Amino acid sequence: MPESSSAKHGARKTESEIERLLSRLPEQLLRVNARKVAAWKKPAGAIRRLLKQDYVRCLRRHLSYAEVRTLVSEFERIFPRFNSRSVAMMSTRNFSAIAAKLDFHLQAVPYGGPDGLALRGFYVTRADGILKRPLVFVNTAHHPLAVTTSFVHELAHHVTSQVLNLPAESVHFFFDADYSTHLAEPGELAADVMVSLAGYSAETARRIFPSSWNWGLVARTENLTETAFEKVRIHLRKVYGFDLMARIPPAERLNRLVGMIHYAKLRWALLAEYDL
Ligand SMILES: [Zn+2]
Repeated sequence: MPESSSAKHGARKTESEIERLLSRLPEQLLRVNARKVAAWKKPAGAIRRLLKQDYVRCLRRHLSYAEVRTLVSEFERIFPRFNSRSVAMMSTRNFSAIAAKLDFHLQAVPYGGPDGLALRGFYVTRADGILKRPLVFVNTAHHPLAVTTSFVHELAHHVTSQVLNLPAESVHFFFDADYSTHLAEPGELAADVMVSLAGYSAETARRIFPSSWNWGLVARTENLTETAFEKVRIHLRKVYGFDLMARIPPAERLNRLVGMIHYAKLRWALLAEYDL
C-alpha cells in the first residue's frame, strides 16, 4: 500500500475511534459520574466547600515548586511571556494551531443537553491500539472564557503527561463544580494551576491579592477578601470581557462563580507559597 494511502487509512481509523468514544460519552457521563453531575446541579454546596479550603496546604501537599516551574517553562514555549501577561481569550482556530504543533487530536464541539453542560472537556492519553495520538475534547457550548479555560486545563494535562511523572488516569473528565476534588488529585491540581497562571499574570496577582506582610508566619489563603474579589471581577471584565452579572445566563452564574473563586484562590496560593 502506498504510504499516503496508509496514512489516510490510519487517519480514518483514528477518526472513527474518536467518534465511537464520543458517542459513548452521554452514557459514561451519567453512569460513572452521576455524583459529579448531581454536584453540578447544586453549585452552592461547591462554593461553600471551596471557600473553606486551605489552598496553600493543598498546593504544598500535592505539587512541588520544581514541578510547577517545569510546567511554566513548557507553557512559555506555547504562550510567549506566560505568567508575565495573561493568556488572551482563544478561538477554536487557536486551539487547532496548538494541537497541530504539539501533535494531539482536538475535538472542540458544543455538547449540550440536560446534563451535557456539566462537562467542560476531557483528555485521553495515547493508548496502544486505540489512539495513536492523545485527544483533547473541549465542550464549546459554554461561555468563551469557560471554553478557553477548559482548553488550557486539558492542554495542561497533555503537557503534564509529557514532562512530569504524576499518577494519571487514562481519561480525565473535567466537570463544572468539581473543583474541590481537583485539589486532592495532583494531575488535576497541576492542570488547574496552569489555568490559574494563564488567567492572572504574576503582576496581576500581586496587584489583586493581599501582600505577604498580612499573611502572618504561615501563608493562609482561606478567605478571599471582598476587595480582592472585586479586583478579580474587574480583571476578568477588562481582559476577557467576562461579566458575571451582565452577560451570563442566570442559571449558569453560580457555576461560573465557583470557577472564579477556585482559580482566584489557587492563584493567590501560588503567589503566597511559591512567589509565582
Ligand atoms: Zn482534568
